[in-house]
Amino acid sequence: RRQLHKPRGYIAGTGQGKWLSVKIYAMTEHTKTRLGLALAFLALIAIIASAVWRYGYMQALDGLARQSEADLALASDRLTVELQRFGELAVLTTDRPEVLSALNGEGTARASAHLLEVADKTSALELLLLDRQGRAIASARQDWPKDIAQEVATQRAMQGALGWGNRLWTRGQRSFHFAAPVFGPDKQVQGTLVVAVELDVIELDWVGTNPAMYFTDARGQVFVTNRSNIAFWMRSDDGLSPPDAAPLTFGSQHIGEHEIWRLDWGPYLPQRALHVLQPLPIIGFLGEALVDVAPARRLASLQAAAVSALCLAFAALLFLAMERRRTLAEANMQLEARVTERTQELSQANQALRREVQERTRAQEALAQAQADLVQAGKLGALGQMSAGISHELNQPLMAIQTFADNGVKFIERGKRETARDNLGRISDMARRMGRIIRNLRAFARQESAPVERVDLIKILDNVIELTAENLKAAGVTLSYDRPDGPLWVQGGEVRLEQVFVNLITNAVDAMAGSPVRQLSVAVESGDRLAVLVSDTGPGIDLPDKVFEPFYSTKQNLEDAGMGLGLSISYGIVQSFGGDIQGRNDPDGATFIVQLETCAPAAERAA
Ligand code: ADP
Repeated sequence: RRQLHKPRGYIAGTGQGKWLSVKIYAMTEHTKTRLGLALAFLALIAIIASAVWRYGYMQALDGLARQSEADLALASDRLTVELQRFGELAVLTTDRPEVLSALNGEGTARASAHLLEVADKTSALELLLLDRQGRAIASARQDWPKDIAQEVATQRAMQGALGWGNRLWTRGQRSFHFAAPVFGPDKQVQGTLVVAVELDVIELDWVGTNPAMYFTDARGQVFVTNRSNIAFWMRSDDGLSPPDAAPLTFGSQHIGEHEIWRLDWGPYLPQRALHVLQPLPIIGFLGEALVDVAPARRLASLQAAAVSALCLAFAALLFLAMERRRTLAEANMQLEARVTERTQELSQANQALRREVQERTRAQEALAQAQADLVQAGKLGALGQMSAGISHELNQPLMAIQTFADNGVKFIERGKRETARDNLGRISDMARRMGRIIRNLRAFARQESAPVERVDLIKILDNVIELTAENLKAAGVTLSYDRPDGPLWVQGGEVRLEQVFVNLITNAVDAMAGSPVRQLSVAVESGDRLAVLVSDTGPGIDLPDKVFEPFYSTKQNLEDAGMGLGLSISYGIVQSFGGDIQGRNDPDGATFIVQLETCAPAAERAA
């Protein structure tokens, strides 16, 4: 895992790399912690499981002990009761007249017959009558061990008490016997009546039942048992041992107040058994039971397994919850890292923006400065334009005056006084015109234009054509003018509009100076606004966008080199009337269009 992740942590760029190595470190740390936790939890589960097992085992053993003690008590009671029956039989039989008469020497045949009858009825092994010296004088089946008189039980009976004991009978049968004293009329012991019973007869109906039980006699020999393979085994410190053989595997252990035996005593006995004791003082036996604890162990194991499973399930849930929390925390870390990254990016962007704003502010200041400079330059330009305009505007009437004066001189010389007077009148008109121009220019210089009034466009165009007729003739230009019927009222000033059109015609004549065809056409178009089109057959406008800028001129080589102010002044004039002036190139040459706001005729206005 570490191998897998380590290289990844070091490839990426600084920020991410650092973050990844932190992550790997956290991961290995986390894996260690997780392993430790898992081991601790497993150990805890093992401890809990063993405690549960032990507790469950103890509980099961308690139950088992109670049950087997009850079983053993029941079996012991049954054995005692069964045997006691024969004890009582012995006592009762001593009262029989046949028994006493036999002891008194009055014949034993009757006594033996009676004893046989009783033996047959009670399935006793033997009923035997002994005299005071221990000699057998009557017997049911004529089958008794020769040393019966030496038995402890018989000895006790001779002394007037009920005696009992166990022994092997004549053919090796395991038997229990009672010896009851026979009292004579003088209350003296006259003899002993012995009743023997074969224990197999009593055992028969419980052989093989559970639990395994056995009863040992006073010598410690297994005398009664429901497991025939351990009959006659001897009781010792190591449990039981078969007679005449080496002791078998045995182990003893105490669990609480219970004693558990481990043994290997054949297929009919448990290998691990709870040992239960029950003394039988009435018949002098010790009852013992060996109960298989395998079911108890299985139960305890089952309980421990259930608890372990529960704990494991709980652990799994806990683990899942922890994993979830860890994943969430990891995602959170990642998110925080991203947020930090983003925040950094944002603050950088913010700084960049701030810098940009500062730059913009500086640029704006620079622009404002540049604009102020431009205004200054504009003012200077306007000044130049003004002075140039004055000379330009006055130049044309002056030239006309010169022509009229020259012609006047010629007319006087030829004696044509009328015509000469006419010329002089015209010179006077021109002078008046010049006066008006100067007044206008003065007004322009003072930023006061003469008021805009209602003027007749046709009359103005008539004046202009008259003013420029000589000029056109001299330059060899033919004029085509389809004169509309006047008047056509427009917004403007008479002199200023004349100035505009004279300028346009003069420019056209200048432009056509090198053209083979010199055709000037003036046309009036009516619409929303009135438009006057002045077209020529010259070379066309070089830069139609530039022509209205002050000081733009292409006429440097001509004699009448212009200042480049005519069109810019015209533009200002037309604009001040609310009109418009444009120049465009046609296939033949150039066309200048002057648009003017129309005015209602005087009659309509009065109405
Ligand atoms: P100027 O006549 O002193 O040059 P203008 O402002 O009247 O100044 O004209 C500016 C320029 O416009 C001229 O120099 C010329 O190049 C151009 N121009 C004006 N009218 C015409 C025209 N009819 N045909 C071609 N070019 C023209």
